[in-house]
Amino acid sequence: MIEVRNLTKSYSNGEKAVDNISFTVGEGEILGFLGPNGAGKSTTMNILTGYISSTDGSAVIGGVDVLEEPIVAKRKIGYLPEQPPLYPDMTVDEYLRFIHELKKSKLPKNTHLNEICELVKVNDVRGRLIRNLSKGYRQRVGLAGALVGNPPILILDEPTVGLDPKQIIEIRTLIKQLGRNHTVILSSHILPEVQAVCDKIVIINEGKIVADGDLEGLRSRFKTETDEELSLEQIFIKLIYGEGII
Ligand code: ADP
Ligand code: MG
Repeated sequence: MIEVRNLTKSYSNGEKAVDNISFTVGEGEILGFLGPNGAGKSTTMNILTGYISSTDGSAVIGGVDVLEEPIVAKRKIGYLPEQPPLYPDMTVDEYLRFIHELKKSKLPKNTHLNEICELVKVNDVRGRLIRNLSKGYRQRVGLAGALVGNPPILILDEPTVGLDPKQIIEIRTLIKQLGRNHTVILSSHILPEVQAVCDKIVIINEGKIVADGDLEGLRSRFKTETDEELSLEQIFIKLIYGEGII
């Protein structure tokens, strides 16, 4: 469904934000995309969604090359960027109608938006100005926007950052639910969350992939003498910071 091949992004200062990374995501899979701050997660997601170009390599989304046919590829993707582009002076309902227009969705507007609002549970705030919403509700509205047009692929950049534990659980439940009929790439700092939600994990550091596979595969790479099962968090710390830190 998603094929990233030898993707590289260099900025004008010569620094490589993403350095020759390759991975694939199968249809219906939820991929956890992990890495410390500055690792290159948002850069990769911005390339996959056609917002910035790559310096080298390719990204193919549902058989369509993002660089060659950006508009066709974008239609297959619902993107929730790190800072969702919400308009604070619009109500939730106005915003979603606006996104429906913007995406030129052919789905019946009222029914489609009702379904989305039901799913992400924003019905009780549909008439409210976005500026007056809590962070948790704003994140749901951003997610609702990503779902407009029913794209089969969702790319979610740190969807739970800044949320409280209850809101995190709610968004996590929602992502799990969405994973039943979408292919999802999810970047996150919250490792237990990724462990709970994702089928597959890619860990990136300084622009390079340092691990790729399912949790069992990652665990077998780090078998301990006591046969203790490492958590994703322990594996992540070993990979990124080495053995000495804890
Ligand atoms: P992450 O999302 O994993 O925290 P990013 O993809 O945002 O990481 O950033 C990866 C690297 O690229 C960082 O070192 C960042 O400073 C650098 N970077 C991002 N955008 C630019 C830019 N426009 N110009 C130069 N360097 C950039
Ligand atoms: Mg980021």
